[in-house]
Amino acid sequence: MPPAPRPSAPAIAPERTSSGRYSLWRLLREGLNGQRGWSRAWVKAAPRPRYRVVIVGGGGHGLATAFYLATGHGICDVAVLERGPLGLGNVARNTTIIRSNYFQPANIRFYDFSLRLWERLERSLNFNAMVSQRGTLNLFHTEAQRDLFTRRANLMRLEGVDAAALSRAAVKALVPLVDLDNGRYPVLGGFLQPRGGTVRHDAVAWGYARGASEAGVDIVEHCAVTGIRREGERVVGVETSRGFIAADVVCLAVAGHSSELARMAGLELPIETHVLQAFVTEGVKPVLDVVLTYGAGHFYISQSDKGGLVFGGAIDGYNTYGQRGTLPMVEEVTAAAVTLLPALARVKVLRQWGGVMDMSMDGSPIISQTPLAGLVLNGGWCYGGFKAIPAGGFTTAHLIAHGAPHPVAAHLDLGRFAAGRTVDERGVGPFPYLH
Ligand SMILES: Cc1cc2nc3c(=O)[nH]c(=O)nc-3n(C[C@H](O)[C@H](O)[C@H](O)COP(=O)(O)OP(=O)(O)OC[C@H]3O[C@@H](n4cnc5c(N)ncnc54)[C@H](O)[C@@H]3O)c2cc1C
Repeated sequence: MPPAPRPSAPAIAPERTSSGRYSLWRLLREGLNGQRGWSRAWVKAAPRPRYRVVIVGGGGHGLATAFYLATGHGICDVAVLERGPLGLGNVARNTTIIRSNYFQPANIRFYDFSLRLWERLERSLNFNAMVSQRGTLNLFHTEAQRDLFTRRANLMRLEGVDAAALSRAAVKALVPLVDLDNGRYPVLGGFLQPRGGTVRHDAVAWGYARGASEAGVDIVEHCAVTGIRREGERVVGVETSRGFIAADVVCLAVAGHSSELARMAGLELPIETHVLQAFVTEGVKPVLDVVLTYGAGHFYISQSDKGGLVFGGAIDGYNTYGQRGTLPMVEEVTAAAVTLLPALARVKVLRQWGGVMDMSMDGSPIISQTPLAGLVLNGGWCYGGFKAIPAGGFTTAHLIAHGAPHPVAAHLDLGRFAAGRTVDERGVGPFPYLH
């Protein structure tokens, strides 16, 4: 079914693309030249004493913000400060799922804006990020859940976003491994977003870093921000492990460490930090060419191009900055996996890891100015901020450049919590472990 016309999708202004250093001609030339002519993908910059904009955090959102500031707004006097090597935070620890199958119309618009940016990202960056729109399939197991998913699909279609209902037979045809009549929660059908899929996560960090660096941004690794300097109600720069750096605007894009950084400026955020785990199995032949989610528990799975089955579940449910997680969640995720896909019981798990999640109190992100002049926040991504990287960076750059929110992210302001305008995607109230 073709989606209905899009009534309210905002225009995407063209940004300048990267230099095109990667080309067929270049590959041939370097191949004949012993691969000696390549330069670093991004310049390893040393920090200068002052910038117009300092972005704290070299993850997906920090790097994307820098890229769009430089290429979309001509603001190149920008530094991205990363305390470790670039791209080892959540941008490289996630399960790589992209989609825009949300329920709240404002969220559908925001995440679909991101999906449209993903669809042209590789051309914008001239970098292979392996954007794969293989579809995301949510299974439902009760009549009530069918109604809920149908409402969500209808809301998406009203916004011009693709969504389709699948029968049990269609689910089985798409994923032969699924046990439709499993003893715990038989599958009644599915809800497919064909444009959803996966993207190679670390290539996203590398691609944005390369694009930003080429446009003149300083990417400063091994530079931890240890304090935020204020003059009255204005932020004037950051203390770092490599000295003080002055800035007109400081943008926090540190995901799981948002509360910690905001506290350095004297702000308390409506954000808690939790751990989320992920798992990958040994490589197997192609068995799954869609992103599959289980509606009766919190479990999602896809197959990477290397053949590993990548899967995860819910957050562990307690506050921590630990990046490992605990065994009860491993048991819960594994039980869901073998209920839905019994063949998985015979596959070996190779790796498990965790990442720290900045869980906001309504489950939606925050892209906002703050009560302090010169301090901008990009955070509260919960467990879903990877898919939002292009839109998060694009709209944060707009906010910094214009001093006003981009229309597609205007509902994500920090003031909504005090004003009672929360964007409660799940309708479960201010309880991060339920989001
Ligand atoms: C296991 C797991 C699975 C996930 N799966 C998905 C998924 O399938 N789809 C999806 O959309 N999202 C998913 N997410 C969520 C997603 O990964 C995050 O929401 C998103 O990556 C956060 O934004 P970021 O990339 O900018 O964060 P990060 O990459 O964490 O960037 C923040 C950076 O800030 C740096 N930093 C912190 N403190 C300081 C300091 N004091 N000074 C300087 N630098 C500092 C950190 O080192 C880090 O590099 C998942 C997350 C995890 C952990």
